[in-house]
Amino acid sequence: MQTCFHCQAVLLMQQWKVNGAWCGKCMKPICDACRETALRCLGCEPFLKKIEQYAEAQMRFREVLSGWRGWNRAHRTLLTAGR
Ligand SMILES: [Zn+2]
Ligand SMILES: [Zn+2]
Repeated sequence: MQTCFHCQAVLLMQQWKVNGAWCGKCMKPICDACRETALRCLGCEPFLKKIEQYAEAQMRFREVLSGWRGWNRAHRTLLTAGR
């Protein structure tokens, strides 16, 4: 079974042979949706890169959250100090 190298969608080889897309960067077959994305942003976006971006976003979210918690603690300290 052949899958799209960019989004892991299953490629119907019968159909792919007729008007299938190919990523010249990855040297792998890709699906129609990914061909359009690749054309629009002039590059390829492999699945692994997306996971990396997702992990990065999660990490940033955690950073923001811990920053907010730190601020909350500082605020509470200020409140108790003001009493
Ligand atoms: Zn795809
Ligand atoms: Zn690619």
